[in-house]
Amino acid sequence: MKTRSCQVLVVGAGPGGYVAAIRSAQLGLDTVIVEADKAGGTCLIRGCIPSKAIIHAAERFENLSQHSVDGGHMGIMASSPELDMQALISWKDSIVQKLNQGVESLLKGAGAELINGWAEFVDAKTCKVKTEDGILRIEAENVILATGSSPIELPFMPFDEEKICSSTGALDLENLPSKVAIVGGGYIGLELGCALSKLGSDVTVIEGMDSILSIFDKELRRPLEIWLKKNGVKVNTNCMAKGADISETGVIMRWSDKEGEEHSLEVDSVLVTVGRKPNTQGWGLEEMGVRMNESGRFIAINEQCRTNMPGVYAIGDVTGDPMLAHRASAQGEMVAEIIAGNNLSWDKIAMPAIVFTEPEIVSVGLTPDEAKDAGEEIIVGKFPLAANGRALTLEAEKTNGFVRVIARQSDHVILGIQAVGSHVAELSGEFVLALEMGTVLEDVAATVHAHPTMTEAFHESVLKTLGHAIHIS
Ligand code: FAD
Repeated sequence: MKTRSCQVLVVGAGPGGYVAAIRSAQLGLDTVIVEADKAGGTCLIRGCIPSKAIIHAAERFENLSQHSVDGGHMGIMASSPELDMQALISWKDSIVQKLNQGVESLLKGAGAELINGWAEFVDAKTCKVKTEDGILRIEAENVILATGSSPIELPFMPFDEEKICSSTGALDLENLPSKVAIVGGGYIGLELGCALSKLGSDVTVIEGMDSILSIFDKELRRPLEIWLKKNGVKVNTNCMAKGADISETGVIMRWSDKEGEEHSLEVDSVLVTVGRKPNTQGWGLEEMGVRMNESGRFIAINEQCRTNMPGVYAIGDVTGDPMLAHRASAQGEMVAEIIAGNNLSWDKIAMPAIVFTEPEIVSVGLTPDEAKDAGEEIIVGKFPLAANGRALTLEAEKTNGFVRVIARQSDHVILGIQAVGSHVAELSGEFVLALEMGTVLEDVAATVHAHPTMTEAFHESVLKTLGHAIHIS
């Protein structure tokens, strides 16, 4: 058995692990990263990127369809668009492949050694990896656990990734299902649900809670609910999935409602998106002496992402919510700096959350309810996209979107910003910056925003919070 010693061992090359490895190698540390699958992790290979590719293609298809109705749209007439699902998936795969190769060459360029194989720990700082050339033993001075998360399976509806799919299978559908049931109305299910609906699937959502996207407040959810209704997506809330029976022609999806009444629907595929679980099993975590957090599900970390074992760090989805790629990457960068001797700790004010549904939803910082619960006296301003010129030219106002700002009444410090509307995801950068810099309303009010852009809607929502918006009374 060969042995490789290193200063930093990273396990998992998702957005947490690969960023940690690149930064650690850039800082001159001898770095090894082990990945069992493809470099890029859930995000690049079967999550953020492939889903956004399909969402974009679906939007393009829907736009073309609008131009093909009688009389066209915007003076542009087109014939009925046709969908080649296999070609769409190949196009999506080509983006994934490009990014996977990009990550591999970035790791190489920075000087980190990527080892392909499954890491299994024998103690806190030693693991064995089964590689093509035999078993490799890696002994590390520091370990960064970045093993990520996987889709949760319902025990009575096991994934076959054809008729009963996880998000992974749903991103590889070779044929567009003419009818699809989505169990779970969280962001992953709804993003894919909107895309499938735009491509022409008949979509039914089954959600256990009394609303979809329950992490957001009513005002933020409303435009999405309207879009779903207008587009024939049937949303069943307060409903529990009971099972799915594979038939010759498809799947009979069964669920019960609040009153206990049973319902069933024959569909081509069922997509189960009921959440994700941290990858904590099957790689010797129990041999490492690393403690779990209070819930018992995630690896416990402190504000430096240190576990209870000296020199062992954990980052990303395996450490808990919010399970987001940008959180994992930011933690990864920070941990590399800490190992290199820089005394950093997690002090982020803003962690943006974006849902790429139709319309898109962005939330940064506190919502009005969260601010009130935190004991803040607040002022709130809201500006509709319908009053923003650029939104009209992009037809982004059609989904009743808006930008909402929450500020502390006493000193006008901005506490939270939310937006709903087509294309609002790209506004998140300015929102995060405003919060992270501790901006007050007057700072944004005094900043010139380019015309015509949707960022003017942010400027106006700030003016509205101050009581003197220009483009709305
Ligand atoms: P992961 O990306 O899960 O990577 C972990 C890696 O570790 C995997 O590649 C795995 O193979 C490897 N691994 C695990 N154990 C071992 C072992 N023992 N040995 C070797 N390798 C191992 N987040 C966003 O921020 N924005 C989005 O728009 C977004 N969209 C999403 C859409 C979908 C459909 C899904 C499923 C997720 C989405 N996410 C999104 C979430 C995002 O993908 C995750 O938060 C992110 O990938 C977590 O990064 P990570 O590095 O912690 O783990």
